[in-house]
Amino acid sequence: MRAEQAFVKHGLSRIRTAEDLQQLVTEISGKPVELKLISDTNMKTTTALWIEDQRRHRIILRKQDRPLYRARGLHHEYAHIILGHPTCIGHVADPLIRRERTFGDQTMSAAINADEAGDAAQWEGEAEYLAGLIARTLLHPIYLDDERLFG
Ligand SMILES: [Zn+2]
Repeated sequence: MRAEQAFVKHGLSRIRTAEDLQQLVTEISGKPVELKLISDTNMKTTTALWIEDQRRHRIILRKQDRPLYRARGLHHEYAHIILGHPTCIGHVADPLIRRERTFGDQTMSAAINADEAGDAAQWEGEAEYLAGLIARTLLHPIYLDDERLFG
């Protein structure tokens, strides 16, 4: 599976902190990642959003979500970036997303055709799977030998 291959290829099992992960995603993609917490009531059905422009990635997260739930969305968006997927902005209907698309100099189009819609389901599955692998890695103790205590 592509998610597992990407996990191994990029050495994601080595990450131990959120900072490690953000740095690694920056190195893999060649662009810095900027995180933005918002409490916009227009962001009703979208828990996390990744927007890419020519200089950076921006990941927008809902401020009102619980921290662990926000982390889940963040890892999902990081997974899309690592896997080289297009941004999610064409797949969602929130009014906020349409507004955020007008910021900066994003190059992605919101229009997707039928073939891409089929790919989108695969992309979402891959991103979810890789996000799970990332979360499991971050839940390890700093020193892997400490895991022996848990049997
Ligand atoms: Zn997604």
